[in-house]
Amino acid sequence: MKNQDLKSGLFGSIGENMVAFELAKRNWYVYRPYFDTRIDFIAQKFVCKKCLSDWESKHIISCSNPKCENHSKELNQNDFIKTRKCLDCSFIFNKYSDSQNCPDCSKQMSIDKQKKSGQRNYRFHCKHCDKEFTSQTRTCVKCGSANNIEFPICVKCNFEIIPISSKCGNPDCNSVEYALIVRTIQVKSSHEEESGTIGFNFKMQDLVNDVRHFLVVYSRTFKDFQEKQNFWVMSVKEFEKEYVSQSASTLIYQNARLHPPSNKSKSFFDEIRYNQTKEELSAARRACATSEITRLNKLLAEIDVFGKLNKKLRGDF
Ligand SMILES: [Zn+2]
Ligand SMILES: [Zn+2]
Ligand SMILES: [Zn+2]
Ligand SMILES: [Zn+2]
Repeated sequence: MKNQDLKSGLFGSIGENMVAFELAKRNWYVYRPYFDTRIDFIAQKFVCKKCLSDWESKHIISCSNPKCENHSKELNQNDFIKTRKCLDCSFIFNKYSDSQNCPDCSKQMSIDKQKKSGQRNYRFHCKHCDKEFTSQTRTCVKCGSANNIEFPICVKCNFEIIPISSKCGNPDCNSVEYALIVRTIQVKSSHEEESGTIGFNFKMQDLVNDVRHFLVVYSRTFKDFQEKQNFWVMSVKEFEKEYVSQSASTLIYQNARLHPPSNKSKSFFDEIRYNQTKEELSAARRACATSEITRLNKLLAEIDVFGKLNKKLRGDF
């Protein structure tokens, strides 16, 4: 079984969709141009400016202190305490703490535990200035104002807990700066013809000359009656090396018939090795094996030809 049953126009959009899907798996947002251009689609991604990891653009609750180990980390209820802050005198009252210094004279207060079902209810008394309040006191324990708000603070450093809209996807990175990067993609689809060869039409004039532009040659082949998807991902420079050097003159004025590079091409996507390495990487992550994670991340960057789009290029930021 070969591809004769497929119309070539239909096949072109299958190739584009397959390539778009591979990019979506790698967290790219993919868009089609509104009008027919030389570009088949546009891929965009938010990345960390410091380490180029994918940027997670979601809201997290985190510590506001840049020096705290809880900064930029996604926190849960155990990581913060609910306190009350007075909007008039700024005093922060932690009603859950059984140790209080007097808000007026700063000396340690004596405590009297009042048992109430399921709730902490302490009475504090200052022997020095006779100040008195309980953990249930609703007004400010320092100035008496009723103008108080809920004020969550970090258990580690007592700084305010705030929502942060986004963070670097790399847990070891504390960068707060991100950038939007854009790639333009041209897909050349090809499939096995009756003769068994694979080829696609190409016109030099169609090639967009920008380092952020990538060509992907997609082909659908059969081995032992099993369908196989093949991707060759190339920058414009790599494409010129693979294809243009030997036949530059014929490419300029006419539609040339080109054939995909061999499987040994560095730009060929080795899906099996890629998926195996990804699996090993998630096992290493589960085991928290730091050096193994670093090694596999490096290896994955070499294996994944789609990873070329992730590198910082001229014009990015
Ligand atoms: Zn980062
Ligand atoms: Zn006092
Ligand atoms: Zn106050
Ligand atoms: Zn903190």
